[in-house]
Amino acid sequence: MNCTDFLSQLTDYFDGEISPELLAEVRAHLGECSHCKVVVNTTRQTIEVYRGNEIYDVSDELRERLHTAIMAKCMDARKRA
Ligand SMILES: [Zn+2]
Repeated sequence: MNCTDFLSQLTDYFDGEISPELLAEVRAHLGECSHCKVVVNTTRQTIEVYRGNEIYDVSDELRERLHTAIMAKCMDARKRA
């Protein structure tokens, strides 16, 4: 699993609609990718805020924004390496 695969599973992961096989892959990726770990932590906090306001919805727009942000970070890290 790479960052793109991970991000495509992110909303299912948070919705709890992920298969055990994929969950294992997601967790493995999180163990080795600090960028995606940050995304998960940020997303979780965002969801908690939204939930508090009863407008919980991991919208496509949010996913799109996270995707853009994480890919930019990964590119950056690769350039520096
Ligand atoms: Zn990643």
